Amino acid sequence: MPTEALNNNCVRTKSGVIVYHDSSLGTVCFSPFTGLIFGLHSSLERQVFQWLNHDIASIENEICRNSLGPGWATPYEAAFYPSPQLLPNAESWGNLNAPGRPLLVNWFITGRCPLACVYCYAEDLMRNEQDEPSANRVGEIGQQILKFQPAVVVITGGDPVFTPRLEDALRVLHGKTGIIVDTSGYTLRDDQIAMFKQFGATVRVSLDSHIPRIHEAQRPLYDKYPGFQRRGSTQAAALDALCRCIGAGVTVCVQTVATKKNSNDLIRLGDVLFQLRVRNWRIFKVAPSKARLDGYRRLVGSHSDDGRAYSGKRSRGPYAHAFERLLQAKSQSWGSQMAVQVIHNETPNSVILVSPDGKFMTESNVGAGKVLIDKKYPFSPELAQIRTSIDMSAHANRYLNIAYGTGATT
Ligand code: SF4
Repeated sequence: MPTEALNNNCVRTKSGVIVYHDSSLGTVCFSPFTGLIFGLHSSLERQVFQWLNHDIASIENEICRNSLGPGWATPYEAAFYPSPQLLPNAESWGNLNAPGRPLLVNWFITGRCPLACVYCYAEDLMRNEQDEPSANRVGEIGQQILKFQPAVVVITGGDPVFTPRLEDALRVLHGKTGIIVDTSGYTLRDDQIAMFKQFGATVRVSLDSHIPRIHEAQRPLYDKYPGFQRRGSTQAAALDALCRCIGAGVTVCVQTVATKKNSNDLIRLGDVLFQLRVRNWRIFKVAPSKARLDGYRRLVGSHSDDGRAYSGKRSRGPYAHAFERLLQAKSQSWGSQMAVQVIHNETPNSVILVSPDGKFMTESNVGAGKVLIDKKYPFSPELAQIRTSIDMSAHANRYLNIAYGTGATT
């Protein structure tokens, strides 16, 4: 049994680590010092909660200490990021039950974005000024999201640093859930970095390659903002944003979309990130989007641009070989010092997305684009309807880094 404070709640402990409890899934911790989510086995729940809440000075379990302690109790050099992110290990969990309520909600706060990425999964929610929320509406939408007491809310878009409502959103969420902010970094200002530090938000910067021309080919500037041209390379801006956040002591994560253009260079990118002291890297297989299905087919492909077939077993697709090499690099070069998550995007209805005007949506599992989770109550869906529309097992697997299909983990 969990402690009373935890029973089906989400609380911020004195250490800053967020603890979420769900009677079906169990206990999950989000560390704002690493930007990572960990499942915590019930046998350790009580003691770890006391430690996170400063009621006891330490805990015996070394794996828990070095996974949840970096940044406040243990040095980052001692950090350990198990894969899957289940503490103390996957074996102690046996089966993972699906959660009864959302673990993570993506708050798509704005459709504005300075970039026009060739694979943008969100194009159907973007560039619509009339849906941009007012300050009051941001407060209401934030409260609606918090009703579900998720462990983490990802403020995303569009580019959240491109909306004047970012601070309003951070204020609503602060202290009640973990916060991650997605950004391309292109217009990120130093005062916004200071704001992330103040609110304990993890900043997730999109960076597709250490090679400027590859990143820029995938992530060009949006042509309706010609004034931005003089700011220069989108890749240099992303790297600069990353370095400024690290320099300011803000927790960072890097998000990379893997396509046939960059998948062979991912290990080199991983080396660069490791040297920059990035400790949390997520790699997505490019996701199909109804708005850009042709582009998706070109980006996934089975052959390179000059017609050569990708190595590896064709039946497993062009990514299998590249991802296997990534896993090897993680164990041989980066060790446990960098958490590497590979997201396969094979279960589209595993994500919960709140649109700029406050509708709760998911990605259709039959390729029909984004769909309402609850047609009757689009702005305030019932929990039963969330459980029906969302594949809750895949939802938990996605955020606890449990790769499905092949059984492979990173
Ligand atoms: S940065 Fe994100 S939201 Fe903006 S165009 Fe690229 S994928 Fe779409």
